[in-house]
Amino acid sequence: MPAESSNTIHPKGSPDPVIEIQSEPRPESPQPKRPLSTVSITLPSGGVADIREVSGAEERILANEKLQRKGEAFDLWLSSAIVTLNGKADVTPADTLALLAGDRMYLIVRIIELSYGDSVDFDSTCPRCDHVSQSSISISETILPTLKPYPEKREFEFVLPSGRKIIYGYTTGMHERAMAAKDDPSPMDLLAMRVRSVDGFPATPQTLDEFDGRDRATLRRKLMSDPGGGVSTAVDVTCEACKHRYVTHLQDHVSFFLPGLRQR
Ligand SMILES: [Zn+2]
Repeated sequence: MPAESSNTIHPKGSPDPVIEIQSEPRPESPQPKRPLSTVSITLPSGGVADIREVSGAEERILANEKLQRKGEAFDLWLSSAIVTLNGKADVTPADTLALLAGDRMYLIVRIIELSYGDSVDFDSTCPRCDHVSQSSISISETILPTLKPYPEKREFEFVLPSGRKIIYGYTTGMHERAMAAKDDPSPMDLLAMRVRSVDGFPATPQTLDEFDGRDRATLRRKLMSDPGGGVSTAVDVTCEACKHRYVTHLQDHVSFFLPGLRQR
């Protein structure tokens, strides 16, 4: 029997026929492709990335509810818009998950800026009176001036009041993904993920639950005081109806990632 080529199928109900799949050439697009703008940026960690504006295909990835449910939409979107990351081409979601959280947020802000321009419009709901206010901010004036680099060291030793020795580091995309997968995420979990070891042993959230109150409070204070680098996406909003002032974060608004879409 002659070797079959790989592009053959055997339909059900017939003994052993072989059907060749015709590979028809796709008609050439009548319009030349518009080149996507790219820019090279230095990350808060000191790394370098070449980013490009997002295309309509990436917008569809981000809005894909199946990918959203699997928690994959965001890193597919992010990795698609990064041309090279620290010299590596063919950037994958695994590469973006390994990045520090501050690098990820900075990449997002710069990709949005490159793709849609400096101005970001979003709606937010007043926590006091539920009025929906429309706001507009400038990325270059409000967000980019808050850029803070990461220190060169990425792991730190700290001794708790009980004498326990802690090694802690910074939040990565992996931690963010684990948080997003939780049914009932708490900011305490994210802090716990930053603890690499306790007295030389790998730490788990359960290890930290067994600390006494003073150790837990001291650890929280220490981690909160050292969040690492990146940009702040916190925006002050004054409610148009009751004048209450509140803070909202850009990444919590769908219109930040997909301008023009409104909150559902
Ligand atoms: Zn209000």
